[in-house]
Amino acid sequence: MKYDYLIVGAGLFGAVFAREAKDRGKKCLVVERRDHIAGNVYCEEVHGIQVHRYGAHIFHTSDRRVWDYVCRFAEFNNYVNSPIARYKDELYNLPFNMNTFSKMWNIATPAQAQEIIASQIADLGIMMPKNLEEQALSLVGRDVYEKLIKGYTEKQWGRDCRDLPAFIIKRLPLRFTYDNNYFNDRYQGIPIGGYTELVEKLLAGTEVRLKVDYLKNRQELDGLADKIIYTGMIDQFYDYALGVLQYRSVRFETEELEMENYQGNAVVNYTEREVPFTRIIEHKHFEFGKQPTTIISREYSSEWKKGDEPYYPVNDDRNNALYAQYRERAEKEARVIFGGRLGGYKYYDMDKVIAAALELCGTELG
Ligand code: UDP
Repeated sequence: MKYDYLIVGAGLFGAVFAREAKDRGKKCLVVERRDHIAGNVYCEEVHGIQVHRYGAHIFHTSDRRVWDYVCRFAEFNNYVNSPIARYKDELYNLPFNMNTFSKMWNIATPAQAQEIIASQIADLGIMMPKNLEEQALSLVGRDVYEKLIKGYTEKQWGRDCRDLPAFIIKRLPLRFTYDNNYFNDRYQGIPIGGYTELVEKLLAGTEVRLKVDYLKNRQELDGLADKIIYTGMIDQFYDYALGVLQYRSVRFETEELEMENYQGNAVVNYTEREVPFTRIIEHKHFEFGKQPTTIISREYSSEWKKGDEPYYPVNDDRNNALYAQYRERAEKEARVIFGGRLGGYKYYDMDKVIAAALELCGTELG
């Protein structure tokens, strides 16, 4: 065999594995279907601005090992994510915090906010939240749910909030301090120079072949390596033999505007149902850019169908059960290891992908 590992997919999972394998003296070949590395964290520099081609990525983690690891390959700036939510003409701070509540109810103290939320929750009588709607209502009450959650979530997931799992909303912090930091994590930032450069450094010294579709060249590629690390869609790997897993896809409308500052913030969520996009990203603000023009992307969410780019696994009961069947099959593979957001069919953040890759390196590479 020419290579120890064939790595399918040049995203974060594959790149971390490649780096660790190389550092332990293994020979890897990375094949990537797209014409660039870095998967969905890919950024492209346009007029000095790093444009997040597949949606905004803000690195955040509480895992010291992961943070130390990424800091070996990039320096991070001190960007702190503080999105704005726009509901009709009303603007609110996210995540749900005292700034949000004081604007919503014209109040000032945590006690006042807690009292209003408690009275709205009491009216509902939800004991054990069974779905996203009940989870959200029992966390923040009706006003916040109706204005800032319901419309956004239904656009993002294309499903009624009563048909969605509660865990999705648990990603969002709720706090009774005036703190607009979207994440509770200890470490946060954007890599200076962009994510593509970070992944380039991970892949330095490893052979990468772009525009190579593994599934279309399987026989030939399988013959090149002892083992395969597969980071594509697990159901596609098996030609959807057990059924099709559901994903959400995203479409971006990106444009450059002849102005310095369009919306004053990197992320503005449009939480009302009637606006067709979910959010507008103004890329330069991730890096405190001072360029004379600006680049914005409107983000539209859609149901994934074959041929689209998959972004978000829809981790509801049906899909999780189907994934478990694929997983069972995958575990019997002698030569193939599955990983990443698509290989593991999990709504992973970047740090969790890196942690999972490092964990695999520990067991696989020693
Ligand atoms: N969410 C919401 N309103 C918002 C932002 C988020 O209701 O203004 C909910 C929504 O259900 C979404 C989830 O929180 O799917 C997670 O949002 P986040 O922005 O963390 O997800 P991302 O798309 O960035 O992974």
